[in-house]
This record gives sequence, C-alpha cells and structure tokens, in this order.
Amino acid sequence: MKRIATALLALTAAFAAPVHAAPNQTPDVELWRLDCGQITVRDLSVFSDTFAYAGLTRILTDSCYLIRHGQDYMLWDSGLPAGLLGAKVDPSAMFGPTLKVDLPTQLAQIGVKPDQIRYLGLSHNHFDHTGQAATFAKATLLIGAADLAALKHEPLPFAVDPAPLRPWLDGKAKTDPVTGDRDVFGDGSVVMLAAPGHTPGETALLVRLPRTGAVLLSGDVVHFAEQWEKHGVPTFNADRADTLASMARLQAVAAELKATLIIQHEPADIAKLPAFPKSAR
Ligand SMILES: [Zn+2]
Repeated sequence: MKRIATALLALTAAFAAPVHAAPNQTPDVELWRLDCGQITVRDLSVFSDTFAYAGLTRILTDSCYLIRHGQDYMLWDSGLPAGLLGAKVDPSAMFGPTLKVDLPTQLAQIGVKPDQIRYLGLSHNHFDHTGQAATFAKATLLIGAADLAALKHEPLPFAVDPAPLRPWLDGKAKTDPVTGDRDVFGDGSVVMLAAPGHTPGETALLVRLPRTGAVLLSGDVVHFAEQWEKHGVPTFNADRADTLASMARLQAVAAELKATLIIQHEPADIAKLPAFPKSAR
C-alpha cells in the first residue's frame, strides 16, 4: 500500500511540473535577431518532393538569434561561416551563400562579447547554422543528440560540416546533447522543441517574452512561407513523415500559444522582430 502511495505521489509530482509549464513569474527575457547571411537558391524545386516550386529562384535569409535570460546569454544558431565575408554568389551553384557581417561585430554593437555566451543552441547540424560556432567555444553546445552523432558519420550527411564544431567534438568544450524537448533555463521561458525530419535531431525554439508573448523560431522545419501551404518536403530531408509531423507540431504550438511563428530563412519574417540592434522584450 505504501509503495502504491509513493508511486501515486511521484506521478502527481510529475504531472504538477510539466516541462512546458508557463512560467509562474515572468522571467526577464530579451530577444534579438542577428544577420547571419543570405543564400541564393537557384532552383527552389529542391524544397519539394512533390514537384512544387518548379522554375523558381529565391533569396533566403540566414538568421541567428540572441536571447538574454537574466544575466545569461544564449545564441540560437551560428549562421554561415565568416570565411564567406565579401564572397560573391556563384551563379552555377545550387545554393549561393553570402555574408556581409559576422556575429562578433554585431554582438559588439550591443556590448556583448563572444565569451559571455553561456549556451550555443543549434537547431541542427547544417553548415548554414554551424558556420561561426567556433567563435563561441566557451559556451555549452545544445544540439539534438542525433545531429551530434551525425557529425561523426562517414561519409558525412548532406550539408553537414563538422569543422566549426571541432572544439566540442574534440572534447575541448562542453557538449550537452538534447533528446526530446529541453527547457533550457528550467522556467519554461526558453524551450527547444523536438522537430525532426529535416535532420534527425532538428529542434525549434520557443521563447516566451514578458511583453511580446511567445515567439517560435522554426529552425529549418520550413524554409519559406509557401511551405506551410503545400507542405514542401525538401528532397534532401532525412525523413518525410517526421518532417510533416514537425510542421504540424509547430503550427499547433503557435496556434495554442498565439505565438509569433518566425521562419528563420524567410526574408519576410525578419520584420516580425524589431530591427537589430533593437530587441523584443
Ligand atoms: Zn538552413
């Protein structure tokens, strides 16, 4: 009987403290959108395995985000590599990445040094999200466990470059692999949401701001707005069914929380947050 009572107590406690609980007191959280480059896509049809978007070209944006939680900073994605600064678009390439300004330059504008970043959260392991990671080697790396494992695969999966993540892969910096969802600060204000499909360990980021309300950063669950409508599953994604399920999850979370849903690669969504160096609170 005592054992049952203990089990019931544990069960009650588990339900009393769900990982997605809305914070009791509103934590002091601030969010900036950072410019992490542009990617010219020569043939947009690679973003659909049902032959949508044929004949279209598109310039996608590359976004990173800084989150301040009290005294702590978290960087969400680290953009294109700084080696691309000043690079010209190769017209023959499927993806033409360019970069105008690096992350340290932008952070300096708001008085933040790279060594102040406590957490480097990566939505996934592709080169356009990991590019400037090594600049933040003092930070603990938060990345989906499956994406961390894939950085060691031979041959490497599409678009995966482990070079910027060497400090973590070589054990010289702290790594904290994420399975399922992760409440980063333990108060529900910043939560990585499992959203596999584009890559096996893909995550999106939910940020609850005291005045703005909930903001949901898409990772690469989708890359541009039309993908919601036609459910464009890129031909290079890891899993079609997971991709569709993750799209549905993000839309449902956004509807439930009345969140501002931001597609990180969608140029039109840049305006959903204040223009840097201004922040959302
Ligand atoms: Zn991307």
